[in-house]
Amino acid sequence: MKGTSGRTRSRNGANLEHAHLLNQRVILEIVRLHGPVSRVDVARLTGLTNQTVFNIVDGLHQTGLIRDFGRKVAERGQPAKLFEINADAAFSVGLHLERDHIASVLVDFKGVIRSRTYRAGHLTTPAEALKQALSSIRELRQKNHHKRILGLGIALPGPMDFQHGKVVFSPNFPGWEQVKVQDYFNRSTKLPVVVDNDATAAAIGESWYGAGRPLDSFVYIYVGVGVGGGIIVNGRPYRGFRGGSGELGHLVVDKRRNAQLCGCGKRGCLEAYLSLTSLTQRLGQAGLDGRSLTKIVELFEQGNEIVLDWLKTAAAYLTEIIGDLQLLFDPEAIVVGGHLPSPLLSFLIERSASIGQKNRRVDRYVRILQGMLQDEAAALGAAVLPIDDLIAPNYERITEGQHPSLLELWDSGN
Ligand SMILES: [Zn+2]
Repeated sequence: MKGTSGRTRSRNGANLEHAHLLNQRVILEIVRLHGPVSRVDVARLTGLTNQTVFNIVDGLHQTGLIRDFGRKVAERGQPAKLFEINADAAFSVGLHLERDHIASVLVDFKGVIRSRTYRAGHLTTPAEALKQALSSIRELRQKNHHKRILGLGIALPGPMDFQHGKVVFSPNFPGWEQVKVQDYFNRSTKLPVVVDNDATAAAIGESWYGAGRPLDSFVYIYVGVGVGGGIIVNGRPYRGFRGGSGELGHLVVDKRRNAQLCGCGKRGCLEAYLSLTSLTQRLGQAGLDGRSLTKIVELFEQGNEIVLDWLKTAAAYLTEIIGDLQLLFDPEAIVVGGHLPSPLLSFLIERSASIGQKNRRVDRYVRILQGMLQDEAAALGAAVLPIDDLIAPNYERITEGQHPSLLELWDSGN
């Protein structure tokens, strides 16, 4: 992978083989996004010739990556055969390691969660967290031992060194900077492992299976113990030079001298107002227990003043950031999701949209959508990472080195 400092600028060209590998992935993606589809539909949606589409679809069908879905009802002539993604072609495990919980999911090829584990509790040291994470993965694999698992995706808070699969700097997740997460899980599970920042993973999850599915480009805001961002451009994540892009939580929104102190040491960061940590702190100062999400929802439904006041302040700062993101990226939509309970997220989004319109901070055409994957977005997104690595039509990835054909990959049993 590129991305080392001091490199000269270069571009990988495509030879015929690359073009074929790319077309396989493009067609698989079209079947995934639009299936059930006929071969003629695929040709129309990709601009490829019927001959190319027929050959590739037949190949994908033979390997079992796609399967029959009956025939199209036709007014005249032979009704066309329809194809869809084969949900059972492969599975993937995703794990989200957060400061207060570990969630893991086993996802089928269609993105449906087929099995899950959840462990709540504060993780004191990286060693303890890794031990618990590994035991979650083992539990999932034991329950699904007959399924073909493509790989393991790990989502962690904080900016990532994506290339080396480790945390760069995580203000609220101390001690993780030196842990080689990818190596650890690779050695202990013998699976291909991809590690990413949790907000980017959640954005990829929403892009494949949630609110981002119909969108080419969007910015995702993850509200959890911290606040993060994921950027999707033309269906692909934009990770930045090292993998540290989208650290929205540490953009300064409150410039006052006495602004809230953030875990990173700065004052006035978005995270100091919008995260679950900040809500828990506010509730704690008032002698209320805000550590359980059920309790938070209960307080919200009772119209608790502290929760409402927190939401209003958080919405005002969120609006500022959305206005900035719009100016920077001009995205199709902004998707807000994460671990914050759904009723509070809805309130936050509605309030933020209405503030934005009133003070003209956010353009009328900007759509602010709620994430559909809720609190499992990061775990599901993590599960997509190894699938994305293997089958997404990622031109750079295909041309950068040895990348097997999907047909070879499936014929050889991975
Ligand atoms: Zn900060």
